[in-house]
Amino acid sequence: MGTVLKSLPPEAQITRVEYEGPRIALYTRNPRFLQQNGHIISEIVNNVKKRVVVRTDKSIRKNEDEAKAIVEAAAPAEAEVSTIFLDPALGEIIIEAKVPKALTQESFNTIDLTEKTGWKVKVRKAPSIPSTSIQSIYYTLKAGADDREKFLRDIGEEIFRSRLIQENDVSILTLGGFKQVGRSCILVTTSESKILFDCGIHPSVKEPWNAYPRLDWADIDLDELDAVVISHAHLDHTGFLPVLFKYGYRGPVYCSEPTLALMTLLHNDFVKVASLEGGNVLYDLRDVREVIKHTITLPYGLVTDVSPDTKLVLNNAGHILGSSTVHLHIGEGAHNIVYTGDFKYGKTLLLDSAAWNYPRVETLIMESTYGAKEDIMPSRAEVEANFVNIINSTLKEGGKAIIPVPAVGRAQEMMLVLDAHMREKKIVEAPIFIEGMISEATAIHMAYPEYLSRDLRTKILETGENPFRSEYFTVIDHPSNREQALQQGPAVIMATSGMLEGGPIIEYFSQLASDEKNGVAFVSYQIPGTLGRRVLDGSRQVSLMGEGGKIKILDVNCKVVKVEGFSGHSDYNQLMRYVGKMRGKLQQVIVNHGERRKVENMANVISRVYRIPTMQPGVQEAVKIY
Ligand SMILES: [Zn+2]
Repeated sequence: MGTVLKSLPPEAQITRVEYEGPRIALYTRNPRFLQQNGHIISEIVNNVKKRVVVRTDKSIRKNEDEAKAIVEAAAPAEAEVSTIFLDPALGEIIIEAKVPKALTQESFNTIDLTEKTGWKVKVRKAPSIPSTSIQSIYYTLKAGADDREKFLRDIGEEIFRSRLIQENDVSILTLGGFKQVGRSCILVTTSESKILFDCGIHPSVKEPWNAYPRLDWADIDLDELDAVVISHAHLDHTGFLPVLFKYGYRGPVYCSEPTLALMTLLHNDFVKVASLEGGNVLYDLRDVREVIKHTITLPYGLVTDVSPDTKLVLNNAGHILGSSTVHLHIGEGAHNIVYTGDFKYGKTLLLDSAAWNYPRVETLIMESTYGAKEDIMPSRAEVEANFVNIINSTLKEGGKAIIPVPAVGRAQEMMLVLDAHMREKKIVEAPIFIEGMISEATAIHMAYPEYLSRDLRTKILETGENPFRSEYFTVIDHPSNREQALQQGPAVIMATSGMLEGGPIIEYFSQLASDEKNGVAFVSYQIPGTLGRRVLDGSRQVSLMGEGGKIKILDVNCKVVKVEGFSGHSDYNQLMRYVGKMRGKLQQVIVNHGERRKVENMANVISRVYRIPTMQPGVQEAVKIY
């Protein structure tokens, strides 16, 4: 800290230098000086090899109403500012505008505004529909601003404490998601640190010892954990995270900004569903808020210290919005781990392909959901043509095409596909009804266009055209409005959940599945044990939990098809190609996140074809990797 202070000229008017989580924060009474002399900060960064941020000193910050009024007056009408939010913990004023481009012009000078208000000005794209999850994050951060300031200072002290042990030792403990899909969780231990990658639940399993990560077996105190890193928002990777906070974890969670928003949505929904069902509630909203207060979001590509001997970089994983591969540098270049999380090495309409060009990676921990030889997806063009045929054959007979979708990711991809093909008249024009959390998840997608595929981002930001707001879509926002989707005539119905495990889709399925005119198209992976998997595997009679908790026996006479290829996961070829890209750097590959047979196949093929040692541990194994 002393070195930092010495390299700053008096004009910078620095009042304090403090840790702010993984960064060093310089508090200044003269923000203009440092904003205009960027080289000073670059030099400090080069010297101390740490991230540095400039904050305004509290003494120069105008009160919130005044600051807000100044910004409101300065923003041109064509920017269509929808929200102005102040974060006192960081001294930031965040402006959400429908047309953020209008705030980059000369007339709206953020340096001037920072000087006038005493708050740092940040501009963000406003979603066309406001997202309640993002709003709740804002409120939680604001309400907890004092705690958060202290938390960030304390975390900084922990991260930048000096090392106690000089040798490097790296092991992983497999706590969940090995030779299985569900409850992903890995504990990485180095000589100095303990870092958890993901903390999920198994969605279709009831016994706690099989449904949750085996933290009990790892026998660690939650205070011993330096950090939790979340690869993406799906509950099989994040569903157990609030439980850590329920039992007293108060350390940092690192993930991308969209991951925080999407996971907040899924956690809140989980609490809602659990309280409706009664019985044992795993965690409540208070724990979800603790997660928000302790999360430090990182953009892709930024190197961040997370403990005295580890640095973290997140990169695009191409799986869902904000999904990240986790790159951990250990001990000043001693060893590098890349954990893929769920990833797609291939482009979709929604996202760009997963990053692969890591400067160094010795240990790759890779998922293998589609790791069997036969898991080869047709080309994207064939996939779409096939999907168009299936939907058309149902619509032409006047039937309903039912598409069960997970709210996050696949739903938005399917919206893009349906809209594009209907627009080109390749799919018979029919109303598309959407129900469940899909709309809120879509709002979050619109709030972070910089995380969408290049084509889609350009469309939304440059041309103002927004396929998520197509006139084909009708949102069913209440069960009482389902009549319009169920009445006579062809229609597409998209609803959650994706595996027929609860959600509004159950209601549509139970009303429509017995009529052979209709069709169900599964577009996502069906975990064994779920109702979706049973129907897909050919069950023609299933029992459903109907409204009011009554069991209903349902004949499934409608067409049931699986549309392969829209997956957010890499297929067999993509997995192999991904490893192939890195083969020169790799010392070992640990295969996880797949049914046993797929993991085994993937591990065997990689060692045979690429001559790289592989491991295929199950849950509850300790593996020394360096
Ligand atoms: Zn996933």
